[in-house]
Amino acid sequence: MAKIFCVANQKGGVGKTTTSVNLSAGLAKLDQRVLLVDLDPQGNATMGAGINKAGLKASTYEVLLGEAEVSAARTRSEAGRFDVLPSNRELAGAEVEMVELENRERRLKDALASVDKDYDFILIDCPPALSMLTLNGLCAAHGVIIPMQCEYYALEGLSDLVNTIKKVHANLNTDLKIIGLLRVMFDPRMTLSQQVSAQLEQHFGDKVFNTIIPRNVRLAEAPSYGVPGVVFDPSSKGAQAYIAFGAEMVERIKTM
Ligand code: ADP
Ligand code: MG
Repeated sequence: MAKIFCVANQKGGVGKTTTSVNLSAGLAKLDQRVLLVDLDPQGNATMGAGINKAGLKASTYEVLLGEAEVSAARTRSEAGRFDVLPSNRELAGAEVEMVELENRERRLKDALASVDKDYDFILIDCPPALSMLTLNGLCAAHGVIIPMQCEYYALEGLSDLVNTIKKVHANLNTDLKIIGLLRVMFDPRMTLSQQVSAQLEQHFGDKVFNTIIPRNVRLAEAPSYGVPGVVFDPSSKGAQAYIAFGAEMVERIKTM
């Protein structure tokens, strides 16, 4: 049975998609079987995994509306050596259309139940909002990975996310917990980065992952080649960090 993790933060541009794609590729390098679920209508994770979001036979949209099985909609990232449940703009419509449906928060959870024996990890790349789509991600998951930049405003908004996670835990999904805060786009030369990083460790203790993802231009360049950064330049600092994070996650799930 797969362990399922949401990569969530309602802020945009904080590294959710980069983390989802590169953790998937990093885990694949460690011989883990991975499904990456793109739950963002922007389809950036789909593209970053090397899949053309314009030519999908089926997508997360059809899966959420019950019009396709995950087994029919998933496709392979040959570059990353993991499976992808892909998305494109159509998914934005699901937000509205699901309102009419029964069990609307649990559509993704129910759909994933049919494939969870095929994988060690299922990673869900959430959109930048605490929306019905994100709620579906949180209801489906065992845990949440929260990528954060170590900047002055990093903690702003975190309490909204933590409160949402608490509510989902109380009302919809008792399995759900925060697995950890992941420091991303880290610049060790900046005193502020060091300070915020230390603050996070002080406040959140072992909820802060040991691995730190540095700011690394190779990670930012990789999506335009349709290849995860971990594969694009495996020896780069960014790739090495995501592989180390994969190893940390493999250790974490042993105690879950
Ligand atoms: P989100 O999914 O939260 O909106 P992204 O993963 O798309 O965030 O990242 C936002 C931008 O920052 C992208 O242009 C991405 O390439 C870049 N980026 C993310 N992580 C890093 C990193 N560690 N080093 C350099 N650039 C990064
Ligand atoms: Mg994104």
